[in-house]
Amino acid sequence: MKNLTEGRKMFWSVMAIFAVYAVINVAFEDFDRAMLEPFDEINALHQLVFAIVIMSILGVLLHRYSRRMDERISREQADKENQMRRQLTQNIAHELKTPVASILGYTETILEHPDMDEQMRTQFIERTQSQAQRLTALLQDLSTLNRMDYATDYITMERVDVSHIVDDIVQETALAVDRKGMTMRNQLPQDIIVNGNQSLIYSIFRNLMDNAINYAGEGATINISATPADGNMWQFTFADNGVGIPEEHLNRIFERFYRVDKGRSRSLGGTGLGLAIVKNAVQLHGGTIKALPSPGGGLTFQFSLKK
Ligand code: ADP
Repeated sequence: MKNLTEGRKMFWSVMAIFAVYAVINVAFEDFDRAMLEPFDEINALHQLVFAIVIMSILGVLLHRYSRRMDERISREQADKENQMRRQLTQNIAHELKTPVASILGYTETILEHPDMDEQMRTQFIERTQSQAQRLTALLQDLSTLNRMDYATDYITMERVDVSHIVDDIVQETALAVDRKGMTMRNQLPQDIIVNGNQSLIYSIFRNLMDNAINYAGEGATINISATPADGNMWQFTFADNGVGIPEEHLNRIFERFYRVDKGRSRSLGGTGLGLAIVKNAVQLHGGTIKALPSPGGGLTFQFSLKK
């Protein structure tokens, strides 16, 4: 049943109902008639032939209808995928345009003004470098997503110590957390081991951490915890009590290039792909993820990973 298309499922379901109905009808009608009046064999044979002819015609019609339905469904799916691909390509082009234009602008100005004062030249070179870094981040994120979309066979799965990865991330981001007057509460047990991909699991926690630091706001507290769950899973909660996001954005923040505040994200060097990577990586590890408001304000991510 799983391998059948929607149209075929409909076709066989209707045919099965017909068949059951026909069997019940023939069995019980004949039984009734046999009890009430003498069984008229010629009449019964006519009825049977008539039923078979009608059922065959209906079967052929239904079969053709189900085939058309399948074709329509796959055409609609292909159209939708094409539209999404076009949209994605447009987004990528749009994201690449700004840093490339800036790099060209700065380098042209530097080349056209050889007598430019030293301080300004340094400033322009620094800006060029930061735009090039933005491009690198964007290309890296795109390549990670591409790998998860089309080359999962090349993603190596191994024994990964999640607690250790999170400890490392907490250390790496300690300075930024401190600068924002934030508090980090890492309550993960020390024995979280999963069968996964080291760099993707790092990406999950690093993206969530960078986002909390960038968007939650000064003085917020970040809480990370985990408990074993049914089905050989670990259930994680990554929460902050910062500014949060309006409810209508909650379902959309995992989309590629979706940002709540575009200007803020770009000025912070965000690619708009962080949470899309997080979601794909979680799914690749057999889990699911959702974003919800933290009780009392802020943003909470709940996600699971297979042990
Ligand atoms: P970006 O590169 O913009 O950070 P993401 O996919 O990582 O892209 O995040 C999408 C958007 O979700 C961000 O632009 C931001 O508006 C919002 N967001 C993510 N995490 C948080 C958070 N902890 N608090 C508030 N807003 C957040």
